[in-house]
Amino acid sequence: MPTSGAPLRVLVLGAGFGGLEVSSRLSAALGDDVHVTLIDQNDAFVFGFSKLDVMFGRHTMDEVRLPYRDAARSNLEFRQESVRAIDPDRKRVVTSGGTYDADILVIALGADLAPEATPGLLEGGHEFYSPEAAAGLTQVLQEFRGGDVVIGVLGGFFKCPPAPYETAFMLHDFLTRNSLRDASRISIVTPMPKPIPISAEVSTAILDLLDERDIRHSHATWITAVDPGDGILHIKDGGTMPYDLFLAVPVHIAPPVVVDSGLTDEGWIAVDPATLVTKWPDVYAVGDITSAPVPRAGVIAEGEARTVADVILHQLRGGDPPPPFAGAITCYVEMGDDTVGKADVNFLSGPAPTASYTPPSLAVAEEKSEFAAARRARWFSGATGPTR
Ligand SMILES: Cc1cc2nc3c(=O)[nH]c(=O)nc-3n(C[C@H](O)[C@H](O)[C@H](O)COP(=O)(O)OP(=O)(O)OC[C@H]3O[C@@H](n4cnc5c(N)ncnc54)[C@H](O)[C@@H]3O)c2cc1C
Repeated sequence: MPTSGAPLRVLVLGAGFGGLEVSSRLSAALGDDVHVTLIDQNDAFVFGFSKLDVMFGRHTMDEVRLPYRDAARSNLEFRQESVRAIDPDRKRVVTSGGTYDADILVIALGADLAPEATPGLLEGGHEFYSPEAAAGLTQVLQEFRGGDVVIGVLGGFFKCPPAPYETAFMLHDFLTRNSLRDASRISIVTPMPKPIPISAEVSTAILDLLDERDIRHSHATWITAVDPGDGILHIKDGGTMPYDLFLAVPVHIAPPVVVDSGLTDEGWIAVDPATLVTKWPDVYAVGDITSAPVPRAGVIAEGEARTVADVILHQLRGGDPPPPFAGAITCYVEMGDDTVGKADVNFLSGPAPTASYTPPSLAVAEEKSEFAAARRARWFSGATGPTR
């Protein structure tokens, strides 16, 4: 904790859903009593769902990039640097720009993508989870003349479980608009047993919409390698599948700096699910980087970040302790024809996760737009503070 009178030094690593939420919340709540330093290797944030919009030509990447300079405030400093080492005992971090000491450290570095982990993917397929790859696919899709399109999930642990299905629905619309649907076959191949394992209702709704659109689906199926020479995908059981265009959700891994700094157990950072504190005092982790028993999603990272901010505020101000992170989220799902459905899910409050489903409509699509606008306003309304 800071010496008396000095502002609390909070160092936040990673400016995604989790890092932006904890930074803006502490900055707004504590005024001059805090100095937040927010570090990211990139100069702008892109919502996960915006990548699909860019890929299918709804928006350009320039239209969806949110520059971090607009997140800075008088007590919130953004630095575009790469994190190179983290010492959780001393709460000291080395970056490409210098060394930082903190009173409180929040690790929100997300999950890295490892397309190289699947043989042949870099040569013969396209991951669509990074902003660069999604932007590159705009052109690939414009030039596509029809054929076998396979959307494949290559690991059991990936961001946004509905995203492969959203991609299939948007691809169906794209090919239909371009008079290529009859000349194409769309298939989803995934190791997941069903679309949303915790909800039979949402899973059935997604499967019905796939069937209505003649989109094939193979669940509990692992693609192990891509063979661009023969245009086939190898399946774990020894089978193969032909493809002309392979769109992949690549294997996810923790960012190497987190592993090399000794922060992970079995690949990810372990946290107390109620407070998100790690085994080191005053060191928290939120979002995709943790091994918390929840899906990898922006809304989860944001909810965890809110809890961390409340835990820190309670440490400073006393009073009643904040409730534990409840795992209650709303998950919007693009379901084609510009409509959006949603699942209101609660992962942690009861003995088993619960979910209630709202079918797709233009009204829910509008609600999703408002969700994004609220985050833009909350996280990027600054532009008054130092940044470098
Ligand atoms: C196609 C797609 C659609 C999605 N749709 C949705 C959706 O509709 N709803 C939803 O809730 N979620 C969605 N997601 C998932 C969501 O984007 C992630 O789960 C969420 O971003 C995780 O937040 P985070 O803060 O943990 O990590 P991230 O948002 O990934 O942020 C991590 C940050 O750390 C930075 N970083 C990593 N390593 C370093 C380093 N060494 N030095 C400096 N900086 C570093 C990265 O640059 C990044 O900005 C989607 C994801 C994809 C790919």
